[in-house]
Amino acid sequence: MPHEKQKRPYLGVLFKCCHVYSRIYLNAAGTAFFGFCPKCGARIEVKARKGGSKSRFWTAG
Ligand SMILES: [Zn+2]
Repeated sequence: MPHEKQKRPYLGVLFKCCHVYSRIYLNAAGTAFFGFCPKCGARIEVKARKGGSKSRFWTAG
């Protein structure tokens, strides 16, 4: 994997569609995390919440 130059906040998510784990990153506005399933390309969006869940792991799909 390429080295990450930027330390953007991310979430680790499990894509149910393909049962694969990946990361999604905070968008420029800082309002939500966006990412794509590495296998099928399904898009996921998780809204960022202030003071929300401390969990960094989400299940998607
Ligand atoms: Zn998928």
